[in-house]
Amino acid sequence: MAVILDGKKLRDKIFLDLKTKLDNLPQKPTLAVILAGDEPASAIYVRNKKKTAENLGINSVVINYPSGVSQNELLAKIEELNNDNSITAILVQLPLPEHIDKFKIIDSILPEKDVDGLTPYNLGKLFAGEEPYVYPCTPKGILLLLDEYKINVEGKHVVVIGRSNLVGKPVAQMLLNRNATVTMCHSHTKNLSEITKTADIVISAVGKNVIGEKMLKSGCIIIDVGIFKDENGKVRGDVNFEEASKIAAYISPVPGGVGPMTIASLMLNTVELFTPGTPVSAAALQIRKD
Ligand code: NAP
Repeated sequence: MAVILDGKKLRDKIFLDLKTKLDNLPQKPTLAVILAGDEPASAIYVRNKKKTAENLGINSVVINYPSGVSQNELLAKIEELNNDNSITAILVQLPLPEHIDKFKIIDSILPEKDVDGLTPYNLGKLFAGEEPYVYPCTPKGILLLLDEYKINVEGKHVVVIGRSNLVGKPVAQMLLNRNATVTMCHSHTKNLSEITKTADIVISAVGKNVIGEKMLKSGCIIIDVGIFKDENGKVRGDVNFEEASKIAAYISPVPGGVGPMTIASLMLNTVELFTPGTPVSAAALQIRKD
């Protein structure tokens, strides 16, 4: 049976570390979150982020807008937050309402306050193999999880399924920066199972049940990023967990794997932006060394 890559356990460890660090800081970071629209899942995510931040001793403000908010209103608010010295980190909850150009909005965040690491500056640094202010949260969480279980990616064949700016592309690049051999797959990929069968590590970020056990090599490592509800309303990932865990050496569960690591990374990033140049955990330091 596969070893479970336990994101909750590592998140708790990171939070313990962060809480001590924050308790010893004379001033605290402040995270501003912009939530536009009335998507219930986004409202839950934002509530969790605020609660988690406050439990750790990070100040947080949530700025709510109705779904009809104009792009200019959002841009004006971001400019105000960029210029406000009391705000140290800015997050725009995605997805935004359809009439808003999300790239324009993300581009307007000051890179030094871009806690998701998604501005062109920070992504550009990452893709150039240089140091961004912070790394995108989900990819960073995945690398921290691999590090915790001492999984070295150097020379390994990693197959990343999904090519979003949020997950697929940055995680592929971060692994490439660590000397993995990376194959990217997406909805136009032909013979996906022929590719995944050659993978030492499979990272799936799709949001559909795309990975069956017959698509995997024995002893592989599976990182399941996807989250969706099946026909019975049960939350599940891209991989058939029961079957895959009989074949894989390591597997991250859904829920309890990558999800908790994403929020842990968000909190790490908030503190890292506040105390630039001093990575706040040994694990974060390791990401920077590679
Ligand atoms: P996204 O922007 O919707 O991207 C999905 C990707 O999957 C696209 O690149 C798409 O290909 C690809 N795809 C769709 N159907 C496919 C198929 N049949 N075979 C292979 N590839 C296929 O999604 P995202 O924002 O990256 O998120 C992906 C999933 O991860 C979602 O379920 C999301 O909820 C979850 N997620 C979880 C966390 C977490 O913390 N656990 C964080 C972020 C996201 P094309 O590019 O060709 O369309």
